[in-house]
Amino acid sequence: MTELLFRRDGYAREATGKVLSITDEGGLVLDGSLFYPTSGGQPGDSGVLRWNGREIEIATAVKGLGDAVILIPAEPAGLPQVGDAVVQVIDWDRRYRHMRVHTALHLLSVVIPLPVTGGAITADKGRLDFDMPETPEDKATIEDDLNRLIACNMDVTEDWISDAELDAQPDLVKTMSVRPPRGSGMIRLVRIGVGAETADLQPCGGTHVANTAEIGRVRLGKIEKKGRQNRRVYLHLV
Ligand SMILES: [Zn+2]
Repeated sequence: MTELLFRRDGYAREATGKVLSITDEGGLVLDGSLFYPTSGGQPGDSGVLRWNGREIEIATAVKGLGDAVILIPAEPAGLPQVGDAVVQVIDWDRRYRHMRVHTALHLLSVVIPLPVTGGAITADKGRLDFDMPETPEDKATIEDDLNRLIACNMDVTEDWISDAELDAQPDLVKTMSVRPPRGSGMIRLVRIGVGAETADLQPCGGTHVANTAEIGRVRLGKIEKKGRQNRRVYLHLV
């Protein structure tokens, strides 16, 4: 098990850790990971590990068994040993852009209130695939609505509910392609807005900004047809 340090503080850039194990492929498992592992359309974090005056580059992170996070070194040599104390530093500029794009995609699912069938995030742009048989007529209106929501300066917070509570509220699940993580008995909900002013509430394990103001303005990109039933909608950070 790896403690999910990125979950405890989405704004932490640096943390200590200890190497618990090294996989056959040379991946490193720490007791706690500041590196977000690729999941839910959000890429794994990159960065560096430092120990005893040495440093290696981490290319990305992926999920292992259970809550384990496996850090993937850019080069398979010169790794720390099991038991070594390390300092982990993530590429904060890249991760913060992921947080901004990710949070903006939640709001895109508000201004386009249709079922989501997929999604992906990069440091510059993100996209959601919607169950949307017709291309929307007014792209400018969607972009305006989205930027108006962002400018509401809404807080982004988390709630936790039980599996049974989620089963009783199936409408909370907007993204059909990403199953809410079950097993621990509790599911994390990400809320944008407060109380009756909540704009979005859905299960999500990703990293988000603390307030929508941090997203800044976004531009709606192309809308691609993906099969008979789906449209892929892009947004870009400005
Ligand atoms: Zn999210």
